[in-house]
Amino acid sequence: MVEQAQPVEKEAILETNSNEADELVRIENLKKYFPVQSGFLASLLNRGGIPSVKAVDDISFSIFKGEVLGLAGESGSGKSTVGRLVLRLYEPTDGKVIFDGIDLNSLSSEEMRLLRSRMQVVFQDPLASLNPRMTIGQAIDHPAKIHFPDLSNDERRDRVNDILEAVHLTPPSAFYDLYPHQISGGQRQRIVLARALVTHPDLIVADEPIAMADVSVRALLLDLMMELKDEFDLTYLFITHDLATAKYVCDRIAIMYLGKFVEIGPLKDVYENHGHPYTRALLEAVPVPDPRYRRTETMPAGEIPSAIDPPTGCRFHPRCPIARDNCAEEVPPLRELRPQHFIACHYAEDLLN
Ligand code: SF4
Repeated sequence: MVEQAQPVEKEAILETNSNEADELVRIENLKKYFPVQSGFLASLLNRGGIPSVKAVDDISFSIFKGEVLGLAGESGSGKSTVGRLVLRLYEPTDGKVIFDGIDLNSLSSEEMRLLRSRMQVVFQDPLASLNPRMTIGQAIDHPAKIHFPDLSNDERRDRVNDILEAVHLTPPSAFYDLYPHQISGGQRQRIVLARALVTHPDLIVADEPIAMADVSVRALLLDLMMELKDEFDLTYLFITHDLATAKYVCDRIAIMYLGKFVEIGPLKDVYENHGHPYTRALLEAVPVPDPRYRRTETMPAGEIPSAIDPPTGCRFHPRCPIARDNCAEEVPPLRELRPQHFIACHYAEDLLN
């Protein structure tokens, strides 16, 4: 069990406060239900109760300092909602987010504002993330101005220039006064990274950070993210639907399905010794650059079911190729079946090597 997080002094928010030396984020029994408009279908599905989308439904995990934790799953699995909950961009319905020993629920809005300099986000669409009326210099300077009001204009300008150099947009003077539409998509994503870095955060939640980048620059952006991780001592929560990308950067990976984790563990072990049929299906869907390769499995038929009224028992059972009778009734717990490798399937042992 987790110890109760201590009440937080304002000054302590910018300091390390964790009892667990290696743990940066701890998530405990997190839930996020979104109420939906009550209509005929919703009332049928909820049989008179208040209808809600169970986007995240009771998950617990940790993110360790210096690691890249991947969060993968199909669209609608709840992975982006987890990212927003970690950053407290959403209030949880239940459960805790503990950042460096600080229970975010215990913070006032002013304390949360101070803490935000230590946790930043990078979204997938850099054009939508940037204000078209702000120059690149202004866009990067903006968070510095908010979080470091004591810095002079010259000090902030130096800081912005340093960050532009760190993301390889050099010389900084050539970019500072340009507007987002005057640079390429790949350069815009570097600007979004630079803006996230200017407060020197500990954690970056990267939500599909290369999904909209041209294929030719994706590997370069991933390399840059890893370079910045070392240079700035970063920890990443890396959200992706693409397991090929996750393989490139992650240390551990969590697979989500319909608001729950189905498998979490060290990346290499999950890729080589997965024990959940959904993980297997996702991995089989990853393109293999070999024309002689023949697939043995495909993604399960059908769409991800409604999160308003998720399937009983194992949520994956309507699509699972190896489901048995009890799967529709009994919720499979996450079990540690290999070192640090947890799987939520009654029959995981059948799939493990
Ligand atoms: Fe399939 Fe049953 Fe395992 Fe769920 S618990 S993944 S339905 S075998």
